[in-house]
Amino acid sequence: MKLILTEPFIPLGFDHDDIETRKIKAALARLGYYTPNPHIGMDETRSADLRAAISAFRQDRNIPDSPWIMPQDATIISLNKELAVNRNAERYIWRTMKDTRVRDDHAHREGQIFTWGNPPPEGHPGDAPNCRCWPEPIGEGKRNCKEEENAWINAGAILFIAEQTLQKAEQEKHQLEERKSQKQVELLKIEEQIEKEKKNKREAQNKGAAIGAAVGAAIGAPGGLAGSMMVAGIGIGVGSNIGRFSEEIGDAVSDKSKTDLSLILKRIRLLKELQALQRQIEELAREISTILMPEVEKAQWDVDETQAAFLACKIRNKK
Ligand SMILES: [Zn+2]
Repeated sequence: MKLILTEPFIPLGFDHDDIETRKIKAALARLGYYTPNPHIGMDETRSADLRAAISAFRQDRNIPDSPWIMPQDATIISLNKELAVNRNAERYIWRTMKDTRVRDDHAHREGQIFTWGNPPPEGHPGDAPNCRCWPEPIGEGKRNCKEEENAWINAGAILFIAEQTLQKAEQEKHQLEERKSQKQVELLKIEEQIEKEKKNKREAQNKGAAIGAAVGAAIGAPGGLAGSMMVAGIGIGVGSNIGRFSEEIGDAVSDKSKTDLSLILKRIRLLKELQALQRQIEELAREISTILMPEVEKAQWDVDETQAAFLACKIRNKK
């Protein structure tokens, strides 16, 4: 609810019916300054009781009184500032004209209690077109603000829990990330080992091939002069076979092929573990950013709002 005046407003002396009068009356009623004559109800007529309500509002705020309200003057600024304060927890009694013109669904609200934060579907009293109903403040001026205080305390407790939950999730995420980096180091070591094994194997192979070639050449040499190229080919063939053979023996003796397999299996297991950890981290990160952090933000917002409402209640009690 925000009041905007386009021209000076004069609450008394003119027999005007207009929407601005209604808005100013509603604003002052909401702040507990204006209660319409029960025989007239909330209407759009400028009147002495509206003038009195404006004067009372100004007196409480040390705003000089005058017969009018100017657009953007201290009265309008103060009204808008106070209307912006959350009064959701504040209650009022729904009052009607109690006559036959009151619409049925308003008639049965006579005497019922509502809060500013939770109006019926079509709004607070006076909001519906031509509605003459008005809100009667409860215990105006002598409320102990216990309700507002409790709302504030509850909001604080909810914020505490939300912050704890967020903190726990962040700790858990941190632990998972640490485990992930440990596993990554392990993986790196294993991959280095595998690389080393491969290199050893390659060296052994090359050595075998060299020995084979030498043996082959030795075998091929007596093959005579004719087709020395061909013989050399056989020699190389035999040699590489011997080379492979010697490598296999070497592996068997040093049990290298077995080591290889267990390293490869270890690597696969680590990769799987890393994948699972990454998934867990991502899930947790998503939960933190889409659920837990917004919850903390909302709880913080509620704390600020309920605190403002509590302080506003205290201030109003001083008047
Ligand atoms: Zn009504």
